[in-house]
Amino acid sequence: MSQSEMRATALALYPEDSREAAELLKQAVPLMVRHNIAPNPVHYALWYTYSKGLEPELNRHLDRVVKDFDSFPPEAACKLFRDYIIRDELADARIGQQQAINLMDTMERDVTRSVKGSLNFQASLDHCLDMLETPDEQRLPSLLGELQQSTQLMQDQQTLFLSQLHAAQNEIKNLRDKLEQVRRAATLDDLTRVLNRNTFNRLLEQTLSKGTAGVALVMLDIDHFKQFNDQYGHPLGDRVLEHVGEVLRGALPAKAIAARYGGEEFCVVLQNCRDLASAQQFAEHLRTKIQALRIKARNTDAVLDTVTASFGVAMAQLGDTPVNLLTRADEAMYQAKHKGRNRVE
Ligand code: GH3
Ligand code: MG
Ligand code: MG
Repeated sequence: MSQSEMRATALALYPEDSREAAELLKQAVPLMVRHNIAPNPVHYALWYTYSKGLEPELNRHLDRVVKDFDSFPPEAACKLFRDYIIRDELADARIGQQQAINLMDTMERDVTRSVKGSLNFQASLDHCLDMLETPDEQRLPSLLGELQQSTQLMQDQQTLFLSQLHAAQNEIKNLRDKLEQVRRAATLDDLTRVLNRNTFNRLLEQTLSKGTAGVALVMLDIDHFKQFNDQYGHPLGDRVLEHVGEVLRGALPAKAIAARYGGEEFCVVLQNCRDLASAQQFAEHLRTKIQALRIKARNTDAVLDTVTASFGVAMAQLGDTPVNLLTRADEAMYQAKHKGRNRVE
């Protein structure tokens, strides 16, 4: 399934026209405010679906979660989002896995058949050799006939096996492409091709659970981006985000990961980082790369503008949770904003 088909499947969940959608959102937002639920896309999708009321089981879950917790735990939100909003995509991944299993079964059957054929051929050869030990001229023609027949059988089987193997190879390639597409759709941000926030949170948690030594977090936020959108329009703003994603992907050292953390906010986790100074140096490198971007009009080469970003850097400390580390980097980034932007703190 292509990415656009995948998006089409996800969108098919929401066939309402703008008026109906606005009505549902009007019901969803007060519910989110009442339960103190952060307005992020996952939560919007859940509460929007809640307001639609077509998933009674989701509604029961949400009712239970908000009754049992003072806040809306991110794990609960992610689980419900997976179970009720993106389940079709997950089903695609499962179908892919099943196809892979079927394919392996077929290949195993083909290989077994071919091995059996070889064993029969071997037995027939042994039989002929035995007969040749005590040559009997009268039996020679029939022996040669037998040998020719089993050789032909063996050749036919080999040809069949090769063509089956070839078909299987093609199928494996298609399957691998499909699984890769599903995996990418589930882990990457569509626009910038860096990790999405959910995947980033999961990987950061994993990283910190293995140890905090040498782990650094760099957070960056594009400066005055609202103004940029207002001046040049959202599509050009999107292109800036794509470029920033490219800069990050091109600059990552080994074992580092980059993600789009929010609208125009990105995070990089560095590993094996010597100290804060080298993390700052990396952020400084990104800062100059972003500043050097030339934002051009689509159909001409005319440079319209440049952009800058402000950076916050923090080293992980013993016992840090993702939230602690993200908060320190976020605070540093806001200092960079307050001190005039386009700088690393
Ligand atoms: P600051 O320097 O303080 O960060 O100012 P700012 O204008 O960048 O910050 P603010 O948070 O006020 O605005 C962020 C803007 O980012 C608002 C929103 O329109 C824009 N934005 C968020 N996501 C996207 C996106 O996916 N595409 C585009 N084009 N713009 C986006
Ligand atoms: Mg921002
Ligand atoms: Mg900004």
